[in-house]
Amino acid sequence: MQDEERSLKLTTDNQQPATLFKGHMPRVGMGYDSHRLVAERPLILGGITVPHAMGLQGHSDADVLLHALIDALLGAAGEGDIGRLFPDTDPRWLGADSADLLLQVRSSIEERGFHLVNADMTVIAQAPRLAPYIPHMRQRIAEIMMTDTENINIKAKTAEGMGPIGNGEGMEAYAIVLIERSG
Ligand code: MG
Repeated sequence: MQDEERSLKLTTDNQQPATLFKGHMPRVGMGYDSHRLVAERPLILGGITVPHAMGLQGHSDADVLLHALIDALLGAAGEGDIGRLFPDTDPRWLGADSADLLLQVRSSIEERGFHLVNADMTVIAQAPRLAPYIPHMRQRIAEIMMTDTENINIKAKTAEGMGPIGNGEGMEAYAIVLIERSG
């Protein structure tokens, strides 16, 4: 192959994907959160109340799963993190319903022309057993995000009794999302 042909071929190969994705460039984001478990707090997780003797401690309702999801969405949109948008020093967010915060974040990414493609989340909790509540969490999050339930995946794991999460001192959550430009 002549140099000129090679250069032409490279240019064509390189430009084709850019043309295909023009205006529809997908973006990925990840989020992580953790909260302590304490007595005399309701356990709010994935936007629903889960019956348990303890609840998560925090300035807001401390919904660790929605906080991870919010951070993933903000990360994908290049909008920073949950602490920047809803600082825990601001009395406005004292006892805040994280479902409302998620709704605000969805509006914010929509204003920038994006919508959620799918979210995959993992929550790590030694107790209670979360599997029975996952369908309701998926439905609730799908409603807030105005997407199909099949686009919201939640996996629950224990920490196999290891470390602070395994000792029941708190819960952790991870979220990965894909967003793309609408239209
Ligand atoms: Mg949090």
